[in-house]
Amino acid sequence: MTILSISGVNKRFGGLRALDNVNLNVKEGSVHAIIGPNGAGKSTLLNCLVGRIVPDEGRVDFAGHSLLGRKAHEINQAGIARVFQTPETFGELTVFENVMIPAFARHDGSFRINLWKRALGRAEIREEAEHILEDLQLADQRDQRVDSMSRGDKRRLELAMCLVQKPKLLLLDEPTAGMSRADTNNTVELLKKIAGRGITKVIIEHDMHVVFSLAETVSVMAQGTVIAEGTPAEIKASPRVQEAYLGG
Ligand code: ADP
Ligand code: MG
Repeated sequence: MTILSISGVNKRFGGLRALDNVNLNVKEGSVHAIIGPNGAGKSTLLNCLVGRIVPDEGRVDFAGHSLLGRKAHEINQAGIARVFQTPETFGELTVFENVMIPAFARHDGSFRINLWKRALGRAEIREEAEHILEDLQLADQRDQRVDSMSRGDKRRLELAMCLVQKPKLLLLDEPTAGMSRADTNNTVELLKKIAGRGITKVIIEHDMHVVFSLAETVSVMAQGTVIAEGTPAEIKASPRVQEAYLGG
């Protein structure tokens, strides 16, 4: 069953066609990768899904409801969480406090940085936060200030901040960007670990090792549109993809 359906989506920035008639369907429970060269429109497409960018034309439906015209927090509450291309964490707070913010937001319905302290009095929210830190191997850094963490650890924290919201759909924009090979491998293992939990994932990724070891379906974007779609094996074998992207 399709959980996310994107059809006929166009977006122009001035004279630039950033998205040019994008059609893409994501199956519920699957891991769907979007690959393509820099500037292909991948991040713009994700921005359309989370309400940061409004398409000029087209439809975006999630679980049978249109996402267009809905505000970012409404989309979040509908069950869509996103890991951004650059980590968006609260540097002056600890790892635990960062996870408490979205954990509380899920219960309270508002995502406001200054409200997390209220969550400390709620045992069930604290437990959820502690559990997710264990799960993502962040328990040792629980009381560390986030601005002193490595980029790779911040990315893991961001993933924890998404997962604690118990999303139906998780959007990951280059989750291994800037990571060492060891951190990348570790992230792939973590993503595999959470793959069986019924969370649908859309992952933008430049690292083919990551894409081919995680995704069931791969869509290839170039110049604002989807030029190919298939299993990793089909995509690897496609001459068109080789030409547009993999062969460089
Ligand atoms: P990708 O994530 O595939 O690298 P992007 O979606 O970031 O590509 O960008 C697609 C194209 O749209 C690029 O040419 C980029 O410069 C342009 N673009 C993205 N966002 C904006 C914006 N807010 N204003 C103007 N141009 C943009
Ligand atoms: Mg991008």
